[in-house]
Amino acid sequence: MLGALALSVLVAAPTATGAPPTQGGGGGAEYVAVPKVAKVTCVRGCASRGRAKPGSLLSLSGSALAGVRQVTFLGSYGKADNAVSQVTLARETVLRAQVPAGAVSGALAVATADGTRSAPTRPVAILPAPAPEPGAELTPVPGPRAQGAPALETGTSRTKAYVGARRAVTFSFRLSDATPSALTVELVRASDAAVVKSWSPQGVVPGQVQSVSWDGRIGTAAAKPGRYSFRLTAASADGAEARSSQVGDVQRDAFDLYDHIFPVRGKHDFGGAGAGFGSGRAGHSHQGHDVFAACGVPMVAARGGVVQYSGYHAAAGNYLVIDGAGSDYDYAYMHLAEPSPFRAGDRVYTGQRIGAVGETGNAQGCHLHFELWGAPGWYEGGRPFDPLPALLAWDSWS
Ligand SMILES: [Zn+2]
Repeated sequence: MLGALALSVLVAAPTATGAPPTQGGGGGAEYVAVPKVAKVTCVRGCASRGRAKPGSLLSLSGSALAGVRQVTFLGSYGKADNAVSQVTLARETVLRAQVPAGAVSGALAVATADGTRSAPTRPVAILPAPAPEPGAELTPVPGPRAQGAPALETGTSRTKAYVGARRAVTFSFRLSDATPSALTVELVRASDAAVVKSWSPQGVVPGQVQSVSWDGRIGTAAAKPGRYSFRLTAASADGAEARSSQVGDVQRDAFDLYDHIFPVRGKHDFGGAGAGFGSGRAGHSHQGHDVFAACGVPMVAARGGVVQYSGYHAAAGNYLVIDGAGSDYDYAYMHLAEPSPFRAGDRVYTGQRIGAVGETGNAQGCHLHFELWGAPGWYEGGRPFDPLPALLAWDSWS
């Protein structure tokens, strides 16, 4: 039975939205009710104390919900961490949907088949899935193996990887007992079990360690953040097949891909009121957020890309602006202790050291002044926006 558990994901109703008229085909005005979500409750497969986790079934109550088809989990910032779930039941005042793999804490919004969307709810806490099991050393696989198929050992270099890093993650394998006639390595996205990339290594010799590496891209585009896993399939000449993991296993040879790393690699804090975006400064308002850390703490590129500016400015001190590769954002880092070794036009990878925290220019105390600019970018028609939600999210997983 679907008795409601504790209401720890209870959310308040957003401000009532009106029902805007839309033109119907018959010439008269047709009124489409805007769906409204007042309350979100975890009803099945919940974590302790009624909290939601990937796979949990949620009940959303409110009004005008009968036409809702999709629930979007808006995540912590931007669109990269959005996750969408199809509704499993929709009635006028209640609907049900499962928390998709990869959904993270944040507001929810629902949408009808014709795209009419509710206001976002208050944030709903979603417990993250357990981290993948580390397995950098080659170990025998638990997956299915037909008689006569090669025996497989696999290992994956890391459980956490970043888009735009020089080398995100390496999958290694070794076969024994039979020479494979066909061999495939697939990269599986956990959120929808889709194979997003595959490799067909040739000339694999039993007993020899082979590997494939993935840089977090599919074609030229950055892959969606979330859980991925490698799956090796090998068949002997007579067709006996072995696989490194069961279908749906998101722990073995798995890793979590993140789109940014937190740029300050040491103890830090996010300052007081004056550190925030939009706080008052002489003659202007603060265009970024100040992250305080000791002078000399290493600073890395939150997201790789191409250096757009590197130089010195009386207010900014030593500064660097990076045009994020595969990202809509530009990233500005200011008050560096020393000029960055990188110059305009240089390629920088995610997590690569770009300098150290300092207080050059107009700075009180050692800190990173960090700016995020939306497309088309830094002083190219883009606008800076409050980077704190993004910084807090990056800090939580870096
Ligand atoms: Zn600042």
